Amino acid sequence: MAKLIYFYSAMKGGKSGILIPMAYNLEENNQRTLVVKPGIDTKGDDHIVSRSGAQRKIDLWIDKNESFLSDANLSRIFEMDAIIIDEAQFLTKEQVEELWTISKRLDIQVIGFGLRANFKGRLFEGSRRFFELADELNELPIIPLCKCGEKALFNARKINGAYTMSGEECIIDGSDANITYEPLCGNCFLKEVVLPEKNMQYLKKI
Ligand SMILES: [Zn+2]
Repeated sequence: MAKLIYFYSAMKGGKSGILIPMAYNLEENNQRTLVVKPGIDTKGDDHIVSRSGAQRKIDLWIDKNESFLSDANLSRIFEMDAIIIDEAQFLTKEQVEELWTISKRLDIQVIGFGLRANFKGRLFEGSRRFFELADELNELPIIPLCKCGEKALFNARKINGAYTMSGEECIIDGSDANITYEPLCGNCFLKEVVLPEKNMQYLKKI
């Protein structure tokens, strides 16, 4: 039976550098593969681009109000052996449930690539549902490093170079010139992002 698989990391974990050759290898082995991106992710337009310069055109955009089980999407999915989703943290929980159903009822392998947590240190909606439903959870082997040299688990947001815990969850890297993201370890995230904005009372609420 096909599996629902989730590969996750902090930002700069080399997701695209693994996703693109994986899609290539599947297709080379005659596995018809649908490469999907959530509609919110406009970075790279209709291509997934890795830092090494490799590219893969996507086959389907999925908006957050759209269903994988719509007639139009299902007619394409029926033809497939595998589905790969980039930036899968941006999927809704209902969409991840649909993918789980597709893997189990249609016997189509579904592989999501995404971030674990948002800039506030909380699971994205899509990531949470993958963690709950996936047959396999894999942390990507390329571990992004914090500036202190430790393994980075958090994606801190900066506005004009200053860390912030405020704002919308989904602001795509590169879509606003004033906003950047930085992978941080737990210690640096707590010290430099969480505590500067809150007093120690906040610790009691974590
Ligand atoms: Zn650190």
